Amino acid sequence: MPYLLQIAAIATAILASAAPATAESLGAAKNVVCACRKLSGSFPKQIIYPGSANYTAQATDAYWDQRTALSPACIVVPNTPDEVATALEAISYCNAPFAVRGGGHMNVVGSNNINNGVLLALENLNKVKVNADTVEVGPGLTWYDVYTALEPHGRVAIGGRLKTIGVPGLTLIGGYHYFNNKYGFAMDNVDSYEVVLGNGTQVTASRSSHPDLFWALKGGGGNNFGVVTKFVLRTHAAPQVSTTIQAFDESAVPGFLAAVCEAAKLDSEDPIAAGMVATVTYNVSTGVTSASLLGVQEGVSNPPDQFANFSSIASFAINNVTTMKEWSANFDTPNQIFRFSSSDPHVLIVFSHRTIKADAALLTSLYESWKESLAEIADVEGLAPTFVANVISPNAVRVGNTNGIGNIWGLKEEPMIIWQFSTSWSLARDDRRVEHWSRVVTERLHASNRRKGLASEYIYMGDAGDWQDAFAGVPRRNFAKLKRIQAAYDPEGVFTRLSSGGFKLT
Ligand SMILES: Cc1cc2nc3c(=O)[nH]c(=O)nc-3n(C[C@H](O)[C@H](O)[C@H](O)COP(=O)(O)OP(=O)(O)OC[C@H]3O[C@@H](n4cnc5c(N)ncnc54)[C@H](O)[C@@H]3O)c2cc1C
Repeated sequence: MPYLLQIAAIATAILASAAPATAESLGAAKNVVCACRKLSGSFPKQIIYPGSANYTAQATDAYWDQRTALSPACIVVPNTPDEVATALEAISYCNAPFAVRGGGHMNVVGSNNINNGVLLALENLNKVKVNADTVEVGPGLTWYDVYTALEPHGRVAIGGRLKTIGVPGLTLIGGYHYFNNKYGFAMDNVDSYEVVLGNGTQVTASRSSHPDLFWALKGGGGNNFGVVTKFVLRTHAAPQVSTTIQAFDESAVPGFLAAVCEAAKLDSEDPIAAGMVATVTYNVSTGVTSASLLGVQEGVSNPPDQFANFSSIASFAINNVTTMKEWSANFDTPNQIFRFSSSDPHVLIVFSHRTIKADAALLTSLYESWKESLAEIADVEGLAPTFVANVISPNAVRVGNTNGIGNIWGLKEEPMIIWQFSTSWSLARDDRRVEHWSRVVTERLHASNRRKGLASEYIYMGDAGDWQDAFAGVPRRNFAKLKRIQAAYDPEGVFTRLSSGGFKLT
């Protein structure tokens, strides 16, 4: 499309969506046209407009959750940190609304994409360099890319548990990996971040350079301080891992949840790195639940002995000794997965979660309440509910608390469980009903846990619903510090005013 027609198309799309047009929407339209125009000048080959060949691939296919596929006015795909800086300069000069995408897995609408604004897609920042005990990683990579690069060196990084989650989003929100119990969270394993600030300035955040920003990036979320163009991650020796996949029938679910709580309580001075994905699934047709465990442990002990509490009650188990790369290759989380039905492409998923002290009786009662409450939405077409438990062990927290840097969470070193509802369904007509159910039941149960003195206010951005305030559980002192750091590094509010979706520090 000729250049002037492209600009006209942007303005038309923006105005068409703003009904009725206001001075504000007209201003925003002008600003977006200004930014897209400037970006076209700087990156004529890396700018994508609606109607161009790659537009759908970028605006839709690059996202895990179909709800996050939006319609940017233009998309820029920078190749280098300097190009990210040039792009941010143009965006902030024009005051244009924008969004940033890494691996595209955050399932919060507007967190990583934007209607009628500028989308910065980071996939071409995909360099990886392996050093003796660190790896330098661009934000265009997935965790599978990182595990693949590290495999020949017999090392692993602390990243995602499944294959295709993006490096940047997970690292910036905290990062649950199988080996948290020994090495802390992904954020605790970052030695430095290269960051482009809102005004286009490039800084390195590390222990010795901008240490305040270094701290803030450890859990402060994506898209709150700047765009990270490189992560230097510490790596750990783990040439082989011992894995287990186990299944449990309904009668074993209470024992399964008790074993999850016991795993959270393991607190040896010299822990064996081991962790899991623990899920209970409800079969709507039969009304029966079942549970599954994906467990990974460092080393070659076969079966992995850290999961003995589970193995003793499992109805089925497959154990193996493999590598982190090979293991994660089995658990792809492809984009647009919930667009799998061609007759009805509207299959959605919603998350919501809260946190408790690792108390087996309480976790079991939460599971039972979840199962009972499913009766309220049992008639929803295509309903597929799961109850997920994530473990926080004392040492996972201690790593950050004792490394001289810390992280924004400020958690106590105590065993905790994140309990999460992950619910999918088929039809648009049920969207509000299921989302309402997820929210109301989660909050009702959380209120009850609070009354029992067993609740934590900690919220993990990776498991939260978009209605949840992910900063609500951050200690007040840390929150005030984060706000001061944000004001110092983004005084013009580029990441608050212009990039407004997702879990924002506002
Ligand atoms: C199927 C699935 C499995 C998951 N498994 C795990 C797991 O095992 N462990 C875990 O901890 N979490 C897990 N999560 C949660 C996941 O970590 C978050 O959704 C995370 O945000 C994904 O990162 P991404 O780069 O793919 O995200 P994106 O959606 O691309 O980005 C997330 C946020 O970060 C911002 N951002 C992206 N790149 C940058 C950058 N370079 N600089 C600044 N901001 C940036 C975006 O603007 C957005 O706000 C899972 C999620 C899904 C959907």
